[in-house]
Amino acid sequence: MEHLAFKSVKDKVCVITGGGGVLGTSMARGLASAGVITVILDINVEAAKKVASEVSSDYGVKSYGFKTNVLDRASLEEVRKKILDEVGEIDMLINGAGGNSPKATTRLEQITEEELDHMEDGFFGLELEGFQKVFDLNFTGTLLPTLVFAKDMVARQKGVILNVSSMNAYKPLTKIPAYSAAKASINNFTEWLAVHFAKVGVRVNAIAPGFFLTNQNRFLVTDEQTGALTPRGEKIIANTPMGVFGEPDDLNGTVLYLLSDMSNFITGICIPVDGGYSAFGGV
Ligand code: NAD
Repeated sequence: MEHLAFKSVKDKVCVITGGGGVLGTSMARGLASAGVITVILDINVEAAKKVASEVSSDYGVKSYGFKTNVLDRASLEEVRKKILDEVGEIDMLINGAGGNSPKATTRLEQITEEELDHMEDGFFGLELEGFQKVFDLNFTGTLLPTLVFAKDMVARQKGVILNVSSMNAYKPLTKIPAYSAAKASINNFTEWLAVHFAKVGVRVNAIAPGFFLTNQNRFLVTDEQTGALTPRGEKIIANTPMGVFGEPDDLNGTVLYLLSDMSNFITGICIPVDGGYSAFGGV
């Protein structure tokens, strides 16, 4: 099916970092359905190549998969050259690589009087290494690809950047302080960069997915053995007015909208795609 509303993105080139992951894969398929040539970058090269090959055979639109570490500038520079040689100029960038780590996750939601003897189960048990890992992946992993890929866009005075935020950016979730703060930094950086690039034709926006069942949160919201919702999973569903987890494909309309000329006058915003989670006060 041809998406006429998004015809401005047809045959354009979009780089997706973390494109081998659950949401990245869905975005790549959504973009290919509108005729976008996708370049899937992932540290997991098998995943990147698999997504690219499935996308090209399912949609008949070219897709490329390359190994890249978003935390390594040399790796990004190398892949930029490869893309310019083998694919063409980059029109759009989705900074999708990101995620949380168990090393930056507390067991306790809150410290209570009863827990004073084992404070290491809360904030005091967190290691700097875990914090740094999560900050690096989410913030530096957005900053570095933007430094490497956006320069050509600015020089050509045309391009679109889409960052991936989270519900945690608005109000932190318990247990995951590093991920929450790192995603808050994405919203702030999105606004800063949008202003910085506003006069040279490069737009910068973000999406904030609500709760989607994927690799990075599965261990927190479902029981490994039974697959049943954990108490935390139940809380999430109770706080999502639509009453369900999102399906990765639910992001695609918003992604296409923010990348296409349909949102020509929009820069510096973050759109929640969350089944109403961010609108709900919990009562
Ligand atoms: P995912 O773990 O399925 O995908 C992340 C991908 O990033 C993986 O393929 C991984 O190999 C890749 N990656 C990790 N480190 C990398 C590196 N250094 N260089 C290059 N690639 C690297 O996660 P996902 O759920 O698809 O999440 C995608 C984005 O959406 C992340 O930014 C995440 O924080 C955000 N997000 C997810 C949810 C959710 O419910 N799943 C909600 C809000 C935001």
